[in-house]
Amino acid sequence: MSYDVVIIGGGPSGLMAAIAAAENGAKTMLLEKGRKLGTKLAISGGGRCNVTNRLPEEEVIKHIPGNGKFLYSPFSVFNNYDIIDFFEGMGVGLKEEDHGRMFPVTNSAKTVVNALIGKLAELGVEVRMKTPVKAVHYDDTEHTIILDDGSKLNAASLVIAVGGKAVPHTGSTGDGYAWAKKAGHTITELYPTEVALTSDENFIQNKSLQGLSLRNVSLSVLNKKNKPLITHQMDMIFTHFGISGPAVLRCSQFAVKELMKGREEVPMLLDVLPDQHEDQMVHSILKSMEESPKKSIKNILKGIAPERLLDYLLERHKMDAEQKAATVAKETIRTIVHNLKHFQFTVNGTLPLKKAFVTGGGISIKEIVPKTMQSKLMHGLYFCGEILNIHGYTGGYNITSALVTGRLAGMNAAIEAVHNSGN
Ligand SMILES: Cc1cc2nc3c(=O)[nH]c(=O)nc-3n(C[C@H](O)[C@H](O)[C@H](O)COP(=O)(O)OP(=O)(O)OC[C@H]3O[C@@H](n4cnc5c(N)ncnc54)[C@H](O)[C@@H]3O)c2cc1C
Repeated sequence: MSYDVVIIGGGPSGLMAAIAAAENGAKTMLLEKGRKLGTKLAISGGGRCNVTNRLPEEEVIKHIPGNGKFLYSPFSVFNNYDIIDFFEGMGVGLKEEDHGRMFPVTNSAKTVVNALIGKLAELGVEVRMKTPVKAVHYDDTEHTIILDDGSKLNAASLVIAVGGKAVPHTGSTGDGYAWAKKAGHTITELYPTEVALTSDENFIQNKSLQGLSLRNVSLSVLNKKNKPLITHQMDMIFTHFGISGPAVLRCSQFAVKELMKGREEVPMLLDVLPDQHEDQMVHSILKSMEESPKKSIKNILKGIAPERLLDYLLERHKMDAEQKAATVAKETIRTIVHNLKHFQFTVNGTLPLKKAFVTGGGISIKEIVPKTMQSKLMHGLYFCGEILNIHGYTGGYNITSALVTGRLAGMNAAIEAVHNSGN
């Protein structure tokens, strides 16, 4: 069978590409190896489908530290506000939550995925499920797609939308990199991003702080000169292997990039009380010590930070938690407060890519035309979504990138195919 456009992969980028191709008059086929479409899309945002983000374009790009600037050009054609209009146009009401994150008002991922499936049907896109693509062959006029059962399809334009390698049980097993290489593309080194970090610090190994969550802390990744490379103020948690939680996920790609430079360990700096001034804290603790000299130091400090962390710090400084305030040296208080504001420790790795939310690295964006998502190296070949070397924070930014690049890939794949067929 021959098609104007064949799209491989039924994630957000492939679904959007199929819709855009069909809207532009192409005879379109979407191939998906799994039993469902949009599996990863459906589990995003804690299973409620974080379809996009409402922040201004400039902010969205800032939240995509992995080559977000590449998206300026695609955004001039289709941006996050167009995504909102697109879903609302299909009857999917969206609501804004914290940090601009957009969700369906139903709080159900099914609403989003079903609307996309309905649109494919309305536009007459052929969809084949449980159809893994095994290989692709590029030719002068048409490309050939070889399926697992050995059967073949031909396409004037081919859109590769098979995602990265993170969470492979959703179907994204990195199949597309070999097909990109075959067309001459460069795949930059792949690494986990939006991922928990591991540490061999004593307090991690002996599980002193395991399970302790900290709210609204400021976490930084430090460079070789001990200067912050990036800082995020969010929640975090100590785990049995290291650290996790929103602030850690956001910092992770910066730590990973430092480790990739050959550093064995990367220092992290934690400010447990970022909104409080160190000297004022010391002053107020010393005051309450003066007022209540018979209170234990543990009781004096109670409430300024989580008890487990305070216990740990007192122990680390070999202090008896029951020691009376009157006998505690001022310097000790300064040290404890300094530790709360400047808690430094190292990380030495991450959980594996299969446990990361997002794949870092991918097809070099230098080899892709930003306004069309077309390969610069092969006619009739388009890429979109996480397979590209573009990666952002969770919060709708990766999905925005997938939907925007998918829109452009599908639209331009159709334009090229229909134009070449002389229709
Ligand atoms: C748990 C989790 C939560 C997330 N939360 C967020 C979030 O809140 N915000 C955010 O922005 N991002 C989030 N992400 C990331 C986001 O979901 C992905 O970046 C996005 O889904 C990528 O879209 P994609 O279309 O490129 O690829 P995918 O969604 O990975 O889709 C690729 C599709 O291609 C199919 N496929 C693969 N190989 C073949 C083959 N050989 N033949 C046929 N089909 C094939 C796969 O089965 C899959 O359906 C999250 C990811 C995870 C894992």
